[in-house]
Formats: sequence, structure tokens, C-alpha cells
Amino acid sequence: MTAINRNNHGFAKSKEITTTRTEDGFVAKIRWPDFLVQIFIHGGCLYGFYLALFEARFYTSLFAFCTVYTSGFGITAGAHRLWSHRAYKASWQLRLLLIILFTITGQRDAYTWALDHRVHHKYSETNADPHNAKRGFFFSHVGWLFLTPHPDVVAKRKTIDMSDLESDSIVMWQKRLYPVLFALFVIILPVFMPVYLWNETIWNSFWVNFNTRFCITLNIAFFVNSVAHMWGQKPYDKYISSVENLAVSVAALGEGWHNYHHVFPWDYKTGELGNSYNPSTHFIDFFARIGWAYERKSATGEMVARRAKKSGDGSYVYENEDDPNVWGYGDADIPGDDMQELQDMKD
Ligand SMILES: [Zn+2]
Ligand SMILES: [Zn+2]
Repeated sequence: MTAINRNNHGFAKSKEITTTRTEDGFVAKIRWPDFLVQIFIHGGCLYGFYLALFEARFYTSLFAFCTVYTSGFGITAGAHRLWSHRAYKASWQLRLLLIILFTITGQRDAYTWALDHRVHHKYSETNADPHNAKRGFFFSHVGWLFLTPHPDVVAKRKTIDMSDLESDSIVMWQKRLYPVLFALFVIILPVFMPVYLWNETIWNSFWVNFNTRFCITLNIAFFVNSVAHMWGQKPYDKYISSVENLAVSVAALGEGWHNYHHVFPWDYKTGELGNSYNPSTHFIDFFARIGWAYERKSATGEMVARRAKKSGDGSYVYENEDDPNVWGYGDADIPGDDMQELQDMKD
């Protein structure tokens, strides 16, 4: 009999599920070239961080910080909300801008990113999920990038319809030219701009503006797969692992409202507007105002409240005070006398 324990993320976890092993006996192997790349990126990141604080010019560090946050919109509004989920439509000008921003982040080509992300949503928390959070923090954060994928991941990738992206000439252009575009937008331009504009050394600029910047962007994106599947509230669906996490949202331009996002993946806001920090939504709304973004899809308040009532963990704040499921004022657990008194005060 298999011993079952419950890890601190609430998953019923078989002892046999680990970073490298799944419950069906599959054992992942290390892909050494990918592993060494991650070692280099993360080791170099520490050195670059030291240079950014103590050796590099102030503008060099500021430039790296600004690049992380501006290019991030290429992931959130581009590869994620537009190309993975088709949550809105974008003119060719906006798609070109997004593909350039996305390329700067260095996170593979948009087609491959969107394919894995579609598999992640469709087969969440199963062996077919490329970064299955049930295999623990380390696997979902970075391990999945240098371990051989479970055969179910390979099989399910082939079943995903990608015809929409195949007919997007900008996406396919980036996919075709990816190695050249990576060299230009991830290494050459970020490293040489500070050298030419304010006489930074190539050495400092390489470690700060290629290595550390790249590593920080990578880890922010990784947080959505790891932290946002582990620590936080589940107002919309308590039966899935994804959570609402403010810290991830602040780091990832509004992508930490992940419980909402897995329930309504087609909503371009990836969170409820009005009560959440979400720069990527404002980014899309800005381009909608000038006509470059259109047909933004969004869940209605009623749909959201209905879903929260049906499957939420009780942390959802209802706007309707008389709703018997309200947590807080109006909660069914408030003693009848108190409720009557409150009612009288209102009248
Ligand atoms: Zn997710
Ligand atoms: Zn998504």
C-alpha cells in the first residue's frame, strides 16, 4: 500500500511523487546542457547583482531594472494573454511591439511558450502538465526546464491546436528567426547600449544587463508556476492548486491572481478588476483606447460571484451584503440577536 501524506500546500501527495519521479514510476533524467545553462545563469546572476550594486554605473543598474519591467509586458500581455489565451485581439503594430518585448525577455519563442502554457492549463496538476506543481516547488519553478519531460507532456503537446498561431505571421517570423533575434535582443542590444550611451565597461554590462537581468525576468516568470500554485487564497475554486498572491502580482505585472486565472483563463484581465494590482490590464486597456487592442473578453461580476459561491474557499468578498454566504458582515455565523440589532441600526 502506498503511504499518503499531505504536504503543506494541501496536496494529497504520494511518497513516490518527487521532483524526479511521478507516481506511475516515470523517472526524469537531467538534461545536462540545459542544467549547465541554468547553473551559469543563476551563478552569474549573483555576480552580476554584486556588480550592479557596487561596481557598475547607476544608469546601468537602472537600465537593467527598467528593461525587466518593460519587457515583462511581452510575456504578460503578449505570450500569455494574447497568444496563449486569445483573451483579446491585437493589431499588427501591437503584435510587433509585443513580440519584440517578449524576445528581450529571452523566454524561448512565443509559439513554444504558448504551446506549453496551453498544455499547462488543459492538464493542470497531472503528469501532462509541463510544470506540474504536485511535483513540488523546485520542479514547478525551474526543474522542469532541465529534466526530461514526462511522456504525457510530449504526447499532449501534439494534441493542442496551434493553428491560430501558425497563421500569425509575426509569431511565425519570431519562431523562424529565434536564434538571431535572441542574440540581438537578449545579448547584443542590452549589453552594448550602456557601453555606447554612458561608457559602461563591456564586462559590467554583460553580467548586469544580460545575465542578471535575464535571470531576474526568468525567476519572476517561474514564480507564477511555483509560488502562485502554492501559497495564497482560493476565492474562486478551492479544488485547484493555483492561488491569489499579491507578491507575485507585484513582481509579475499583475499575473499573480492565478486562482481567478485558472477559472477564467480567457479573461484578458487575469484577475478581478478594481480589487487587484494589474499593470498588464492597464497596458492592454491603453492600447484599446488607441485602437490597437480590441475584443477584450472578460467574465461578468455575476459569473464570478456564482463561481465563488459554488467552489470558492470562502475568502471571496461579495458585493451584495445580503448574500448569506458573505464572509464578514452578513455571515451566517453571526448570532441572530446581533444580526437583528445590526438590522435595526440600519432602519
Ligand atoms: Zn498556472
Ligand atoms: Zn494562463
